[in-house]
Amino acid sequence: MKVSLLRHTPDPELLVASAAKLCYSKAGIEGITKDLSKKKQSDFIKKLLKMGHLSPFEHISFTFGIEGISRACTHQLVRHRIASFSQQSQRYVSFEEREYIVPRTIKKGLKTKFDRLTEDNLKFYQELIEKGVPKEDARYILPQAFCTKIVVTMNARELFHFFNLRCCNRAQWEIREMAEAMLSEAKKIAPNIFMKAGAPCVQGTCPEGELSCGRPKKRQML
Ligand SMILES: Cc1cc2nc3c(=O)[nH]c(=O)nc-3n(C[C@H](O)[C@H](O)[C@H](O)COP(=O)(O)OP(=O)(O)OC[C@H]3O[C@@H](n4cnc5c(N)ncnc54)[C@H](O)[C@@H]3O)c2cc1C
Repeated sequence: MKVSLLRHTPDPELLVASAAKLCYSKAGIEGITKDLSKKKQSDFIKKLLKMGHLSPFEHISFTFGIEGISRACTHQLVRHRIASFSQQSQRYVSFEEREYIVPRTIKKGLKTKFDRLTEDNLKFYQELIEKGVPKEDARYILPQAFCTKIVVTMNARELFHFFNLRCCNRAQWEIREMAEAMLSEAKKIAPNIFMKAGAPCVQGTCPEGELSCGRPKKRQML
């Protein structure tokens, strides 16, 4: 799996703090980005997060390029509606790479069978294409394990929600690994904003009840 942060809103922490300053001071538009030291930005961001005043975080967005993940994983990812996606098309791009995901629970003898069936599957897909079946129909034989590529853009508020659900131990392992990698990239750019982002237990509570993993992660705060 490769997760790259392709683009993000420039100076994201300054922009969030500026929006907050507009809300809580008499400053006009021309003045809201001025006199906001790193300390002031951090203070505004902490205040907003503590109050649950999250709309200022909608002004900044992050675009990730992700490859080496399964269709099973992207199927979960694209359920997030407050996000934008561009995924490699199986209608227009024929599937040639022999790249697929084998979950770690499929070991030894089972792995050999998994590999064989997947290879057979790919061969049959290629046969269908060679015999004139359109790519958009031949793809019906491809398993969810095959890798795909996707570009995803979310604003920071949606990222909070996404990390909340998908960094949790209860989330499926592949999307959890992807979410953790995205969070790690986002933290490099906006450490104050994403300081407490992640599974709910990062902030001390687990809403999973009986389904809780029982091991709320103790993350090191940046
Ligand atoms: C552990 C886990 C198990 C899951 N299991 C299943 C499963 O078995 N079957 C299944 O189908 N899905 C399953 N899902 C997917 C889940 O149902 C959601 O589709 C997915 O997590 C997207 O979350 P969301 O809808 O909260 O967020 P987003 O689509 O990212 O939206 C963010 C928030 O915006 C608001 N919002 C967005 N659209 C609307 C709307 N139309 N109306 C009102 N408010 C809206 C909501 O507050 C929402 O939480 C699972 C998810 C997780 C994390």
